[in-house]
Amino acid sequence: MRLKLNRHAEKIPYYPAAGGYNLPDGVALLASNECPDPPLPEVVAAAAGALQATNRYPDPSYLPLRQALAEHSGVDAERITVGNGSCDILLAIGAALLEPGTELVHAWPSFSVYPHLEAASGATAVRVPLDADHRHDLDAMADAINERTRLVIVCNPNNPTSTGVGLDAIRAFLARVPEDVVVLLDEAYIEFAEQYRPADSVPLLDEHPHLVILRTFSKIYGLAGLRVGYGLCSSTELVGAAARVRQPFTVSVAAVAAATEALRHPGEIGARIRQARESRTVIAGGLQELGIVPAASEANFCWFDLPVVDGRDAAEVEQRVIAGLREQQVLVRSGGALGRPGALRVTYGTPDENQRFLAALRAALS
Ligand SMILES: *Cc1c(COP(=O)(O)O)cnc(C)c1O
Repeated sequence: MRLKLNRHAEKIPYYPAAGGYNLPDGVALLASNECPDPPLPEVVAAAAGALQATNRYPDPSYLPLRQALAEHSGVDAERITVGNGSCDILLAIGAALLEPGTELVHAWPSFSVYPHLEAASGATAVRVPLDADHRHDLDAMADAINERTRLVIVCNPNNPTSTGVGLDAIRAFLARVPEDVVVLLDEAYIEFAEQYRPADSVPLLDEHPHLVILRTFSKIYGLAGLRVGYGLCSSTELVGAAARVRQPFTVSVAAVAAATEALRHPGEIGARIRQARESRTVIAGGLQELGIVPAASEANFCWFDLPVVDGRDAAEVEQRVIAGLREQQVLVRSGGALGRPGALRVTYGTPDENQRFLAALRAALS
């Protein structure tokens, strides 16, 4: 007998899995924008230490981690919420604000989790196309806001296109958003950005009463497997809104311990940023030798259209190249699955993995 789902759940798309799981060792995992390096030994030790007391629930206030984040960001702990990955906060904000008859505005292509908010709530999403340089068209997004709009999401730098917009553009955009509309600025990759530093967007919290800046430990901090993220909020009301719709113990004690320890090693973060920038230069150079110009990356990954030859269609070229890379033990992300057939999204790996990717792409295209 067919399972009867509610009418919202029926419409929720499955998250397009990257396919990088249960693989033999030695596969270059360049499909999920993860950190190529394992966490620091101190971070692993902190998580392991926390396991000793896992007969107890976590402190649901998560105050020590929120205080560490307050020190790190300059935002009061009362205006910081933590989540089981930043997606936990993203989904909670959507669940708290959206319902049938309301609207949500976000760019497209953008993060593949955003369509979930529309489907889960029954709200209507207005997807605003990126501009010709694969960047958010913030003017068009502001134009798309109306009296039904409850939430606008700006992903900066944008996944999957790697591009970023500057702080002045975001500031001008915020000035155009009515005060009762919540703006979610998803900064999952902000540490890698060129246009501004993570500290630079924090003052925006005082410029719009309903802004959430979403950050994560999954990318630069290399803790994707532990699931921890946070939101810097304009107001405590937003912290409360997310708390209403979530389970009380959302982050595990191991994740809390690891995240708190990870904040104590800014030197390591600096080294990872330098490594990503190095990869950016190396991969852009290698792509250019193949006649490919990637989008201007501000993240730990790149985005580019494959050259289409012989009258083949873009989707077919993409599938052939992905299969060719896979044969060479290199996994990348399909642009077609993310809204642009014929494109690839490739995470920067270790220097060795970057070279393997370039060699495998050269072979797949020849
Ligand atoms: C990876 C990513 C996140 C992080 O999700 P977590 O749940 O924190 O792992 C958030 N937003 C975007 C755009 C991302 O690409």
